[in-house]
Amino acid sequence: MTTETLRQKQSRFALGVALLIQQADSLGYEITLGEAWRTPEQAKWNASQGIGTVSSLHIERLAIDINLFKDGRFITDGEGHAELGRWWKSLGQDYRHGGDFAKRDWNHYSLSSDGKRA
Ligand SMILES: [Zn+2]
Repeated sequence: MTTETLRQKQSRFALGVALLIQQADSLGYEITLGEAWRTPEQAKWNASQGIGTVSSLHIERLAIDINLFKDGRFITDGEGHAELGRWWKSLGQDYRHGGDFAKRDWNHYSLSSDGKRA
């Protein structure tokens, strides 16, 4: 068994995001891209504002925030994301969705083998 490097994992994540975008489209949603890569400085600031964590997977290029729209309306709750999140998690054991977090983060899709970090 070969061990996947972080760089390889980042590429697997990026390919998954491409599929995620296409899946959203096929479910009838329009998307815009939110934050993908985040600097450690930004993550620290976010944490100080209570809107993120200092160990965010965005820092490691293993998370992305996707904005969904239906009939021109920006979706801010679980509509669409719940279904899309289930599809995302079907890609593999380490595919995580922010809809499962204690503090729900519906538009957040990530790849995490430890299942702890967001
Ligand atoms: Zn996020």
